[in-house]
Amino acid sequence: MSSLPLNPHIAALPPYNAGMNIAMARALSGRNDIARLASNENPDGCSPAVMAVLASSSFEPWRYADPACTALRAALGERLTVDPSLIVVGNGSEEMIAAVSRAVLVPGASVVTTVPSFGLHEIEPLAVGANVVKIAMTPEMGFDLAALEKVIAAGPRVVFISSPWNPVGPGLDRSSLQRLIGAVRPGTLLVLDEAYFEFADPGAPDGIEILRDSSIDYVVLRTFSKAYGLAGLRVGYAVCSDLELARVIAVAKTPFNVNAAAQTAAVAALADADWMTASVARIRAERIRTAAALAGLGLQVARSQTNFLFFDGKGDSSSLAAGLLKQGIVVKAWREAGYERFLRVTIGSPADNDRLIAALQELVGQ
Ligand SMILES: *Cc1c(COP(=O)(O)O)cnc(C)c1O
Repeated sequence: MSSLPLNPHIAALPPYNAGMNIAMARALSGRNDIARLASNENPDGCSPAVMAVLASSSFEPWRYADPACTALRAALGERLTVDPSLIVVGNGSEEMIAAVSRAVLVPGASVVTTVPSFGLHEIEPLAVGANVVKIAMTPEMGFDLAALEKVIAAGPRVVFISSPWNPVGPGLDRSSLQRLIGAVRPGTLLVLDEAYFEFADPGAPDGIEILRDSSIDYVVLRTFSKAYGLAGLRVGYAVCSDLELARVIAVAKTPFNVNAAAQTAAVAALADADWMTASVARIRAERIRTAAALAGLGLQVARSQTNFLFFDGKGDSSSLAAGLLKQGIVVKAWREAGYERFLRVTIGSPADNDRLIAALQELVGQ
């Protein structure tokens, strides 16, 4: 090892626990037909309008992309009835988690999130030297509102909450969200990560609408990766409570962060809302069916407002995941301390979900 001093905050970071790639899954399982249920991708693919625009002359790979994402922000502003100047577009919403952390946090600042957690809600604050406090889910696999309220009221610099919650699944209802907003004091930024917003049941709260009427500092994160099926293109965005916050988040990102294909595709995907809502309806129906089947096997499954299910595998999750992989099914075994019995499985195509149900019946069914 060289004697070069490294940034200690970065050198100490845990790796991001990404889903297994398909070549590795094929090599380990000896099967070609892999059910990819580890990364919350859309089993329906994406809108054909996206494929069409990327094959058309309006996509110009030889030009630098617009660093301000002007067309996409205008389209989003119209769709969300938000001033486009309050929107910052990222290379996936994950880049916005990093940009918010760089924009707001300094070494020693305190951050609150939940556990089990979306890895980057912890990794990005740690990268800038912040301290992260994690509030555990309840035994019923829900948000611990009282505990969250208490730590939020203590005045951390940033609160990262995903609702609907990755990896667990439930979403905050309107009154619970209002309760958490009510606990936020001046000097605290609430980051509400709504990556799974589109999958929530009708009547679920819209964070942008609710926060707009509040007086707190906030960022709402959304993404094209899940419901719109553009995970490989990397587009997500932040809706900010004020212009100065948006400006500082925008300068915290790299200038040409969202490439030309991604910007063109996102505009086309947003325009084809019918494709997205039809896909989400199919995935929701499959979520309900699959959750009932897993519960029927005697598994404790969290309520889900997302495109995945989180459940207690009743033993070490890695060995159950290895058993599933033998059958060509890739899932995510949770590795956070205290949650090693849990697994997260993406809702896939009906055939993939059937494979998962049959395999679980064989491996853990009563
Ligand atoms: C998937 C996900 C994201 C990030 O998605 P991008 O692909 O980077 O847009 C952000 N937050 C949560 C909670 C997610 O599950």
